[in-house]
Amino acid sequence: MRVLITGGAGFIGSHLCDRFLEEGHTVLCVDNFITGSESNIAHLLSKPAFQLLRHDITKPLELSGPIDYVLHFASPASPVDYLRYPIQTLKVGSLGTLNSLGIAKAKQAKFLLASTSEVYGDPRVHPQLEDYWGYVNPVGPRGVYDEAKRFAEALTVAYHREHGVDTRIARIFNTYGPRMRLDDGRAIPTFIRQALKGEPLTVFGQGSQTRSFCYIDDLVEGIRRLMDSSIHDPVNLGNPDERSILEIAKKVLTHFNKETAASQIEFRPLPQDDPKQRCPDITKARRLLGWQPTITLDLGLQRTVVWFAQDLPVRPSR
Ligand code: NAD
Ligand code: UDP
Repeated sequence: MRVLITGGAGFIGSHLCDRFLEEGHTVLCVDNFITGSESNIAHLLSKPAFQLLRHDITKPLELSGPIDYVLHFASPASPVDYLRYPIQTLKVGSLGTLNSLGIAKAKQAKFLLASTSEVYGDPRVHPQLEDYWGYVNPVGPRGVYDEAKRFAEALTVAYHREHGVDTRIARIFNTYGPRMRLDDGRAIPTFIRQALKGEPLTVFGQGSQTRSFCYIDDLVEGIRRLMDSSIHDPVNLGNPDERSILEIAKKVLTHFNKETAASQIEFRPLPQDDPKQRCPDITKARRLLGWQPTITLDLGLQRTVVWFAQDLPVRPSR
């Protein structure tokens, strides 16, 4: 197969490039490096089955030759990134999704949208099931990301209904692991960076808000299975192991053999519209894909800390 991955030089996208190449497929990675990094795909550049195209997917793209799968992962994804690039985020969720769906339609390829648990906003239903419509502030700071993804879902469904494009929608919950940027502002890389530098860990609010963190390898397996399925409705992919952010910060500290004393945690104001709780209901993925996460938070954190510790002195932030 020839697989097109938009955002292929990003955190999740680069792991997907690896996975499809390992399976013997050809990968075309389209990325404009707005938040991605060349170091994520440097090990792939010499492989004949890997092709990199520097392109902004919000601009039309005509490709020669067949494409079997289109995986649309291009988008700033961390709050710090999409607050820095609000219009680019809206454009890649709308125009980028339109162009990616257009390619899938022209090539009669299967399509997968990387959607997000952010479509549930600050949820009033817990844990979040796929049939919950969400509680999103369209004009708040997170609106640029949440609404772009909600639009992207609507567009994906419209292409399926009107043009018969063979689409899938993955609602991805917080995912972490090697190749995240240490400066992307997300909780786990930030806490690891701070612990590596011996700085206090910045917990927002009281740290009582919850998240459910999925290790990258588990997510890639879920995406892979969803891609091969014929489920057109959204499917939650995430780890239902829900923790408070304070607990996550303390967990990170334990991986550094330091005391989890309060003095190593610094409380900062909670950002506006920060969701209070988030946990996926993955009954659907379990039932239809036979998928569930297998990597514990401790093991995932250990692998992530080792990777960041090796890379910290040399790795450029972009
Ligand atoms: P990332 O920032 O590491 O990767 C995104 C990639 O998309 C980057 O390489 C970036 O350069 C590229 N990109 C952005 N705009 C582009 C454009 N206009 N044209 C071409 N390339 C563009 O982020 P990530 O964490 O790997 O997220 C990947 C996808 O998964 C995103 O769509 C995100 O919304 C979704 N997602 C991620 C998470 C998570 O926890 N990591 C959770 C939910 C959804
Ligand atoms: N967070 C924090 N300190 C940080 C970065 C994030 O306490 O330095 C909190 C943030 O307020 C949120 C949670 O950790 O409640 C997860 O944040 P992240 O940016 O990783 O993802 P998202 O908010 O998109 O789920």
